[in-house]
Amino acid sequence: MVPSDQLPKNYDFAEVEERWRKTWRDEDNYFDRNSKKPQFVIDTPPPYPTGNFHIGNALNWCYIDFFARYKRMKGFNVMFPQGWDCHGLPTEVKVEEINKITKNDVSREEFRNMCRDLTIKNIEAMRITLRKMAFSTDWSNEYITMMPKYYSRTQLSFLRMLASGYIYQSEHPVNYCTRCETAIAFAEVAYEDRETTLNYFDFDGVEIATTRPELLAACVAVAVHPGDDRYHKLRGRSMKVPLFGHDVPVVQDEAVDPAFGSGAVMICTFGDKQDVHWWKQHNLALRKAIDRQGKMTDIAGKYKGLNTTECRKAILTDMKEKKILRRQEKLAQRVGTCWRCKTPIEILSERQWFIKIKPDEIQKAAHQITWFPEHMLRRMENWVEQMEWDWCISRQRIFATPIPVWFCTKCGEMVVPDEKDLPVDPTLVKPDHPCKKCGSTSFSGEVDVLDTWMDSSISVLNVTGWDGNGNPPYFPAQIRPQGHDIIRTWAFYTILRSVALTGQKPWDEILVNGMVLGEDGFKMSKSRGNIIVPEEILVKYGADALRQWGAMGAATGSDIMFNWNDVVAASRFQTKMWNITKFALMQLEKGGFDEHEPVTALADRWLLVRLSDTAEQVSAAMEAYQFDVALKAIREFAWDVLADNYIELVKGRLYQQDTSRRSACLVLHTAFDALCRMLAPFTPYFAEECYSYLKGESVHKQPWVTFSYDDEAARKEGNLLVQVVAEIRKYKHESGLALNAPLGKVTIYAPHTVNDEGDTGRTLNADVHWRTDVAKLDRVITDVDFNRSVIGPTFRKQAGAFMNAVKALSPAELANPPKAIMLDGVETAIPENAFTPKFSYMEEGAKVDVITVGEVIVTIAKK
Ligand SMILES: [Zn+2]
Ligand SMILES: [Zn+2]
Repeated sequence: MVPSDQLPKNYDFAEVEERWRKTWRDEDNYFDRNSKKPQFVIDTPPPYPTGNFHIGNALNWCYIDFFARYKRMKGFNVMFPQGWDCHGLPTEVKVEEINKITKNDVSREEFRNMCRDLTIKNIEAMRITLRKMAFSTDWSNEYITMMPKYYSRTQLSFLRMLASGYIYQSEHPVNYCTRCETAIAFAEVAYEDRETTLNYFDFDGVEIATTRPELLAACVAVAVHPGDDRYHKLRGRSMKVPLFGHDVPVVQDEAVDPAFGSGAVMICTFGDKQDVHWWKQHNLALRKAIDRQGKMTDIAGKYKGLNTTECRKAILTDMKEKKILRRQEKLAQRVGTCWRCKTPIEILSERQWFIKIKPDEIQKAAHQITWFPEHMLRRMENWVEQMEWDWCISRQRIFATPIPVWFCTKCGEMVVPDEKDLPVDPTLVKPDHPCKKCGSTSFSGEVDVLDTWMDSSISVLNVTGWDGNGNPPYFPAQIRPQGHDIIRTWAFYTILRSVALTGQKPWDEILVNGMVLGEDGFKMSKSRGNIIVPEEILVKYGADALRQWGAMGAATGSDIMFNWNDVVAASRFQTKMWNITKFALMQLEKGGFDEHEPVTALADRWLLVRLSDTAEQVSAAMEAYQFDVALKAIREFAWDVLADNYIELVKGRLYQQDTSRRSACLVLHTAFDALCRMLAPFTPYFAEECYSYLKGESVHKQPWVTFSYDDEAARKEGNLLVQVVAEIRKYKHESGLALNAPLGKVTIYAPHTVNDEGDTGRTLNADVHWRTDVAKLDRVITDVDFNRSVIGPTFRKQAGAFMNAVKALSPAELANPPKAIMLDGVETAIPENAFTPKFSYMEEGAKVDVITVGEVIVTIAKK
């Protein structure tokens, strides 16, 4: 053990954290495939490699590391893998920006390589932050979704689901971002409130209101409610579309709201989801007026080539000119936008690839998973209940997993590669055999690529060892930690894919964390300037303080507001703990205690009871992933119970040389050892530093605290002892006495015997007597308080004489004052409220101060 006088005075987090980071070995966190221990596999989220590990990630990973470390101490074989979800548009955009090109300026392969290089660089930067944060990552299980090893599994999963009928291709309306030039899934549509204009115009004699006049070219019908008498005459007729002149049928549908506008609406392909519904319902024609770039098509006639905004303007101008635009009004609207670029989405009918959604099997699996917090399951249920369309998985981009499919250019037959040949890029290689249907050797590779969620939704299959041959060896995983913002994407898709590929739920449990809000309570954003980056906190206060903030900031699942004060408080706690450490080590290094000797003193037994309670509370909280509850209990024990109460109480005893000192040392050792182990998951650097001085071993290789101590008498008497001492110390402080100043005689009248072995006397520097009889106290008047605001105006110059006369009264007279008093020989009335008697207590003839603590009476005869 290092001598305590060699410990630095202040805890230097920067020096300590760096030293341990260099000492720790990656191998200690590896999942052991030969272990007999129960497995605990974590389906860690693979972050998007932006190069910046943001504060939301940090919170998410703090939670993961808390329970990963806890489970290891509990004897589990833990896998805490680290993945990187590489593919996607943001990287493509970044590459275009950095290299000042567009994706069409270079070959697909070259563009993909540029994306790959940028991603590798970003991953490297993020790994450094992960290490600084002391996350106990299993680097032997790192995966990178853009690497062949991973995306061949994505392709394998695609082929398997294609073969089992889950995946199909079809022309169907899909959500489409014309800026990103790709289809997107429903889960990727973000809704925004905007203001738009509602335009009322004459549609072949009927007034129709629309927010999207540019879709007039795509009008395929006019719909009215079947009960709307105004439109009886239109039944079975067709109408002429203004400006364009094509005829469209009038259809009747219960879903039309007769109270909205004129009660007649136009159906376009496609303005919204309702249009898609009606289009299918009434088997209407398809008119594509907007192309993939968001430009008007041939059928828009003279408006061809305009973008939708330009076309809207031009059509409204023409309507005004033709005098068919009747009026316009402002309308608040919720617009579906692309979640990545915020461009309003269009619904375009496209040939795309889809995955069939089978709500029942997803619901069933979701219910077999334990959700923390429980109410998050409801979000999943709601999402599944409202699913109308299948999941569109094809994207018209480049940096993504290729769809491993060719088409015969002669007969159109679809050809897939052998599983052993994966991964393949069908735009670069050809099938190794001719078309089975027509014998042609001419093929075209699918140029569409897969949605990024197709990669990340098999993360759990990947880490549990799925290779397509039967169930993966470590499947299902034990837990999925993730944010509540991606329940309807990542959680939903993972459940869907696991059920489709294995018939089972992906995990036993799912732990959902909240979002991190800025100090102003708003979502962090560049425009608000409220972004906090983990690196800034790491430099100022260190990783352990940031981790404590993550644990304490909010209940698991709730959004958490970032607050520098919480980080400062965390760092103060470390300072306090460091002082405890130095004190404990100084006492313990004097040695002489024996682990097998009984603990006898009341304060010592009491501390063990409180430690036992704390260990139980913290363990229960860790099992339920309530990190705020766990850390709060640890901090309270360390700060209030151990430092402020116990150590103060036994300090005096520790300087003696007898068995009672040995008892205190043993307790100090037990408590300090347990504290380090309970802190290990939260503050791994700090706990390691303290424990290394105590035992010379790594705290992270110790078992979790299972300390249990039952002593009801010690709990009851000890609580009383601690409370009484705290009150007397408070009294000393309020009386202006130093805490170690001699106090005189203190008698404590308690309801039962308390044998404190002299601790109270030593800590108060007083002659302390614990008694169980009743205090015999006389309450006497020893002085008066004068009310000068009454006396002054009444007696003026005689005020002093009046007060002297009152003071001369006997205690009996003061208790029951006369109506009048002699003042300069004149009988003078005593005004009301002129004074109040002051009482004191006398015990055995001496004046004492009295404190009551519940049922306990304490008398203090000061020196
Ligand atoms: Zn977009
Ligand atoms: Zn063919």
